[in-house]
Amino acid sequence: MIEFFEVYKLGILEIIEGIPLRLRIYECANCAGLPNIGKKICCFEAGFFAGVLKNILDKDVRVVEVKCYASGDDCCEFEVRILDK
Ligand SMILES: [Zn+2]
Repeated sequence: MIEFFEVYKLGILEIIEGIPLRLRIYECANCAGLPNIGKKICCFEAGFFAGVLKNILDKDVRVVEVKCYASGDDCCEFEVRILDK
């Protein structure tokens, strides 16, 4: 995923291991440079992560954006929850 982000110039992806897993994007192609509009707007990235992780893990995954340049944060950050059935 890190390479994919690099190749397609989506931003610099950092994976922060832990529970919950966190994925951070610096220089997010979607929203870096936007003014603070008080919203988190990277639903494309959240859906991308959820789809990739669901396929890798074969489990349902919920991804929520918890930080975003568009809400004044210094990166976009996503919290990943793996849902056990
Ligand atoms: Zn964002």
